[in-house]
Amino acid sequence: MRNRDICPLFSRCGGCDYSSSYKRELEDKTEYVYSLFARHCPTYETIGCNYEHYRNKVVSTFGYDRKGNIISGLYIKGTHHLIEKRDCPLEFEESPSILRSIRRLMRSYGVRPYDEDSFTGDLRHVLLRKGHKSGEVLVLLIFGNDRYEKKKEFAASIKDMCPSVTSVSYQVNGEKTSMILSDNPIRRLIGKGYIESQLFNLKFRVSPSSFFQINDSQTEVLYDMALHMAGLTGKEKVLDAYSGTGTIAMIASGKAEKVIAVENNGSAVLSAMESAKENGIENVTFISDDASSFVKNEAKKKEHYDVAFLDPPRSGSDEKFLSSLIKLAPERIVYISCNPETQERDVRYLERFGHYKTIAVQPVDMFPRTRHVETVVLLSQQKPDDTIEIDLDLDELDATTAETKATYEEIKAYVWDKHHLKVSSLYISQVKRKCGLEVGQNYNLSKSENPKVPKCPPEKEAAIMDALKHFQMI
Ligand code: SAH
Repeated sequence: MRNRDICPLFSRCGGCDYSSSYKRELEDKTEYVYSLFARHCPTYETIGCNYEHYRNKVVSTFGYDRKGNIISGLYIKGTHHLIEKRDCPLEFEESPSILRSIRRLMRSYGVRPYDEDSFTGDLRHVLLRKGHKSGEVLVLLIFGNDRYEKKKEFAASIKDMCPSVTSVSYQVNGEKTSMILSDNPIRRLIGKGYIESQLFNLKFRVSPSSFFQINDSQTEVLYDMALHMAGLTGKEKVLDAYSGTGTIAMIASGKAEKVIAVENNGSAVLSAMESAKENGIENVTFISDDASSFVKNEAKKKEHYDVAFLDPPRSGSDEKFLSSLIKLAPERIVYISCNPETQERDVRYLERFGHYKTIAVQPVDMFPRTRHVETVVLLSQQKPDDTIEIDLDLDELDATTAETKATYEEIKAYVWDKHHLKVSSLYISQVKRKCGLEVGQNYNLSKSENPKVPKCPPEKEAAIMDALKHFQMI
């Protein structure tokens, strides 16, 4: 398949990095995470999802084409040249028709696209957000200045023309910047000013500027995995650091005694408090603070937490946070990240300076067609009795007889050389278990009955069997 068969803007837009088969993309993502974490723990196969129209957030920039028609689209990567985008295979389905209605209404209301060079005109960008389960869509109009006076009427017509739009707000951004939003206040024109997004059976308020994962259905898969790893029983005191709008804290609250959530964005904390009230949740305390300062203070007070969730931004956590977290001594740390490189750096710190062992990393594809991948890592505190295990290589935990035993790496190398197939440690462990061979205990987390864990395909199973025979393990 050629790139332009998938999307005519593939090479110019810069939004997608992949156009090959989705299976291949997932394999690449697993390989990438494996290459970072191989020294720490097994890597599970990346959990994929529906790769079309998954984005619940869309941004479009307004301008004119050569004939003077109003267009909406994006700047060609690295340039100031606007190209029209009529449709996008990743963005939610109704977004093109909402943007079309806005362009049409701009003509009838005399709203002109803003020109960033001459500071003339009105409308600069439009941001759309959709709650997949509620079906609600919010529109944020970003004007280059505050001159246009009939914003309210314009907003009312957008709502009338687009049945899914429940809220229209606006913000002024007159800065010479490539940032879409400014620090100016967001003002409500029509509706509540936020949409409702639902995860599992919980409802969350999502305002135009608050952080919320951009792939609703895969977020449930991600959090389900994080919760599974946390192994909560209802008795734990839990920390949710970098908690945003409180999603993880609230989801965990049903399975913990209490949750303390810390986040430094005040408006996200307010939204979280509102959502908790709406959902009738009373065992979560939301704290508006820098996560590192908060955790350092908790350590000073000699507080203990049973489980800690961390979900920091791309830059990862910092030494102040991690060194204090070690002092809080949670039995399990579940670390969610959208940047496995900074995550691996932080995991290394926790292993080196705390008594933590990394049990597994699970990549979850939240951003199909892009090179990004989300990862969840489980770290477990090692009690003094467990110290022998820390120094053991995973393959040494494998209890097959020494003389006939091949390491996972040897099996992978054999399968690659002979069958030209890449197989993961997870697949090898599945086939070994099927053959009655014991597998290292770290592989037991991926119980085959867990429907989220991918099963080894027959072709790869046959290749692994061949390797096991070759190494006289069966
Ligand atoms: N767990 C949330 C948000 C994750 S995004 C969710 O899944 O929805 C990372 C969050 O970390 C953002 O909300 C950001 O505002 C917050 N953040 C960034 N630096 C921080 C810091 N130093 N202290 C506390 N929160 C921080």
